[in-house]
Amino acid sequence: MQRKPILFVDVDGVISLWGFDPDDRPPGAFASVDGIIHFLSAAAGEHLLELREDFDLVWCTGWKDRANDHLPHLLGLPEPLPWLDFGTPAERTAHWKLDAVRTYAQDRPAAWIDDAFDESCHAWAAERGVPTLLVGTEPPTGLQARHVMELRAWAGTLLTS
Ligand SMILES: [Mg+2]
Repeated sequence: MQRKPILFVDVDGVISLWGFDPDDRPPGAFASVDGIIHFLSAAAGEHLLELREDFDLVWCTGWKDRANDHLPHLLGLPEPLPWLDFGTPAERTAHWKLDAVRTYAQDRPAAWIDDAFDESCHAWAAERGVPTLLVGTEPPTGLQARHVMELRAWAGTLLTS
């Protein structure tokens, strides 16, 4: 049985949405997380449940371990997920998440969904030498069915290669 690829999952701008027209809100619900109001996409939980069939999900968010305090319950995920610790700003060499992503991924195929990639992320993905996919989202809409299709299709190519 082949090991699943990793999927690094950002939260803000992927699952927690903002910047949408308040009169034309996407499906979802407001939730207070550590005293801060977030709008959580209703579709996100279903999408993550689907994605976990093909991927080992890992939180890749400034929420760090606090993602597990709230999101499995709010999104309907059956268990907490591994999460990345990004260290201090002085320890980072590129995009603030990239060192932790690189260390966790090692040489495993990995995808990453986030609303804020920069050039260093794309350069890392291009140079890795193992299958790597970056999927960008827009904060007003976040994780959409088309992203799920793209990710699952990509994971499918790994099985045949
Ligand atoms: Mg984000």
